[in-house]
Amino acid sequence: MTEKFDRVYIDENSRGSKLATRVLEIFPPEKIEFVSSRPFPNVDGELSACEFARSKRHLFLTPYKGKFFKRCPGSRPGLACCNYFVLNWGLQCDMNCSYCYLQTFINSPVLTVYTNLDDALNELRALNMQDHVLRMGTGETVDSLSLDELTLYSHELITFFRDYPKWQLEFKTKSAKVEQFLDVPHANNVIVSWSVNPQLIISAEEHLTASLEERLSAAEACLAKDFKVSFHIDPMIWHEEWRESYGGLVDEIARRFKPSQIPYLSVGALRFQPEQRGIMRERFGFNSYVTKAETFPSRDGKWRYDEKLRQEMFAFVIARFRSHNPDWRIFMCMETPETWLKTTGSSPFKKNEMKDLFDPSVLTAARRAEGV
Ligand code: SF4
Repeated sequence: MTEKFDRVYIDENSRGSKLATRVLEIFPPEKIEFVSSRPFPNVDGELSACEFARSKRHLFLTPYKGKFFKRCPGSRPGLACCNYFVLNWGLQCDMNCSYCYLQTFINSPVLTVYTNLDDALNELRALNMQDHVLRMGTGETVDSLSLDELTLYSHELITFFRDYPKWQLEFKTKSAKVEQFLDVPHANNVIVSWSVNPQLIISAEEHLTASLEERLSAAEACLAKDFKVSFHIDPMIWHEEWRESYGGLVDEIARRFKPSQIPYLSVGALRFQPEQRGIMRERFGFNSYVTKAETFPSRDGKWRYDEKLRQEMFAFVIARFRSHNPDWRIFMCMETPETWLKTTGSSPFKKNEMKDLFDPSVLTAARRAEGV
């Protein structure tokens, strides 16, 4: 863990926090500096490729002053929303995927971890939505678990969610860091999910992440402790032998796991904001399945493979799962209702096995709680 960072900055306002105390115990003193404001004050706004790369190796601990709890970007008009909410306890990631949307999303020159998780939990209490079925994830602007050996935020979140049995907490990761929370008592409402790809894509595009084998083994370890497990085959990335690669991935999941153990799977395809193309090319060159991809603007402004290809890829994965067992529950992430209709012949709002995930009343209640 200490190798991941060249320098650790602790905001004076975080002095004495649980996380700062832990960091002081773990990191050598020569790497640590107390600061009264964010490091690199002259770097602001869009980051250059070099600044972005450097930001991954500079850790900054500070309290967050905004609202932690947010709706997932999938709740935007035009996409089929699966009632997912996000709780961000940090910003930036220590891994390095070529397609990562953080490349144009973040404007901070440091990997930031917020030290006031208690405020986030108070925000959740104040929502007053304990009677709703709420799904919440922590992996939007950070990886949920790659730094968890350091933060141990999983412990606090799992314990908090014991008082909210109708809610579901999702840790979304490309790491294999699970050992640190496996013995924390839970209320069977924690799902650990892995974004997975064939090893060929992991090796080419998902740098510094756990291998496919490490991810699947970590999932087995979670199941052994009664945590729920899920897989997101996302983003699917086109390459010439994609059918063999993704077919092999589906076969491996179906061989090692049963549909009864996996509440749902999702599939999604490569997508990125148009302004991301430049920084991806600068950082990863043209010898990448992502930077070489032929993509087109879609309704939500992101660039994607053309709709026919997306449908073909999704239909292939869904059919392959169903060939093993018709009971696999699979949904499409960040896709339009039209793609759902053309791929599965039905809208997600009408499919019986998906109705609870896509229940629009949850979003309405959340908007009310947020005052939107
Ligand atoms: S693991 Fe996720 S957040 Fe981290 S670099 Fe990859 S895509 Fe980005």
